[in-house]
Amino acid sequence: MTDTASPTGRSAPPAAEPRTFRHFIAGEWCESTSGSTFESVNPADTRDVIGRFQQGTPADVAMAVRAADVAAGLWRRTPAPKRGEVMYAFAALMAEHKERLARAMTREMGKVIAEARGDVQEGIDIAFLMAGEGRRMFGDTTPSELPDKWAMSIRQPIGVAGIITPWNFPMAIPCWKMMPALVSGNTVVFKPSSDTPHCATLLVELTAEAGFPAGTVNLVTGAGAEVGDAIVDNPDVGVISFTGSSATGKHIATRAGRQLKRLSLELGGKNAIVVMADADLDLATDGILWSAFGTTGQRCTAASRVVVERPVVDDLLARLETRARKLRLGSGLDDAVDVGPLINVGAVDKVGRYVEIGRTEGELVIGGEAARDGELGHGHFFAPTIFRDVAPMDRIAQEEIFGPVLSVIAVDDYPAASTAVNQTRYGLSSSIFTRDANTAFRAMRDFETGIVYVNAGTTGAETHLPFGGWKETGNGHREAGHAALDTYTEWKSIYVDFSGRLQRAQIDNQ
Ligand code: NAP
Repeated sequence: MTDTASPTGRSAPPAAEPRTFRHFIAGEWCESTSGSTFESVNPADTRDVIGRFQQGTPADVAMAVRAADVAAGLWRRTPAPKRGEVMYAFAALMAEHKERLARAMTREMGKVIAEARGDVQEGIDIAFLMAGEGRRMFGDTTPSELPDKWAMSIRQPIGVAGIITPWNFPMAIPCWKMMPALVSGNTVVFKPSSDTPHCATLLVELTAEAGFPAGTVNLVTGAGAEVGDAIVDNPDVGVISFTGSSATGKHIATRAGRQLKRLSLELGGKNAIVVMADADLDLATDGILWSAFGTTGQRCTAASRVVVERPVVDDLLARLETRARKLRLGSGLDDAVDVGPLINVGAVDKVGRYVEIGRTEGELVIGGEAARDGELGHGHFFAPTIFRDVAPMDRIAQEEIFGPVLSVIAVDDYPAASTAVNQTRYGLSSSIFTRDANTAFRAMRDFETGIVYVNAGTTGAETHLPFGGWKETGNGHREAGHAALDTYTEWKSIYVDFSGRLQRAQIDNQ
């Protein structure tokens, strides 16, 4: 550990020597007990090292949880509207620094700058929404079954929330978790993806600037198996909120289950777009390209399957191929670029392996290989890829690839389309393009996903509605909207008897 500059990451030009950033524990920027660091690099150009980050340890986690536990005592007694005021200040700071945050995000994880701005905006939106919850936080006041007795319910914080997040929405997702946790009166220990520790550091820096008290928000960077497991296992962490792969989610669920710990899981997806023969094919083409290749296919809501009625398969595929060939790959900081890199070399290998499987299952229409021409050779680029003649149960139509690979599945009619949509173990998002209102309403009723779009792609959730998935996409919790508070609060029902005598419910009112 040499360079220990304060972790502002502000608009300074890229330093020749990468800076070293630190954990944030009890309001102090501090080094790990490990004495070691890891690098975060730009996936569009791996020569660009963004910084070195603390390789966290279970001992670091223990310190962070202790700090959060101490801070929770005061924070839970801070009136919720006052907690909301700090959150408004945080939201305003995010808005003020939106461009700086977005550029840092594109540099660290590759999504094109317009999408990075959208990611920051989601964080701002949820912060404003949750700040408002500080003045709502509604419970029920309801008549008692007995005379001279009052009945009501209130939400109370759980205590310390462990927040474990992926790299693909490196600011939106941490905000989706931290804001409802904090406004409800919990404190936070936040472990970001090891691919996006800089984004996390910039966010946490703004929480401190906004006025969240010391120990309220704690950041520990480092490997999932070390830092993540230590957070999950710590008995003083009352609730875990995790977004990531289903494999990691199952691992965490097993560990958290041993302590019967509250756990919210947002996991993988295999989202489908249905195109009926009566659809506006230009609109469907726009929606498919945006959903399949936006964020290089690395959204949990990305469309990786298109289920299309047979009479329009060739027409739709011709449009998709023409448009996909025109997509420009490159650094997302270039406004002219449509598709950025994959997150790392492991992702390129994984997508490549699925393409090989796809060649045996369907017919390759376009793409199918890593893109390494010229400057692209310095990054993790993969050509937008489309397979046709894929069967619903083929592996490329069933397993989450998390890259720019789209499978086109032809079907005879709506019932077959609906069956194909649901023939997956995931259930996050789905969509249908049709001009027939009856078909649209059938889809809204039939699709087994937490989000359904009509005449739009599979991506574009807004922060004031519940967000989450059915089946193996999660464990029944929802983020965003009022539903988000359910993860981070305990309900307490309170009965106040002012009759001056003992009244027994279910007995004295017969
Ligand atoms: P991941 O590999 O599961 O990692 C997610 C987080 O878990 C990272 O912070 C990771 O840390 C940590 N982790 C890894 N092993 C752990 C362990 N043993 N204990 C505790 N934490 C551990 O997922 P990812 O590749 O970052 O993200 C992509 C996945 O997220 C996709 O499956 C995508 O569908 C899903 N996703 C779902 C949603 C949704 O809302 N449903 C939204 C976005 C993404 P390290 O980085 O240090 O390994």
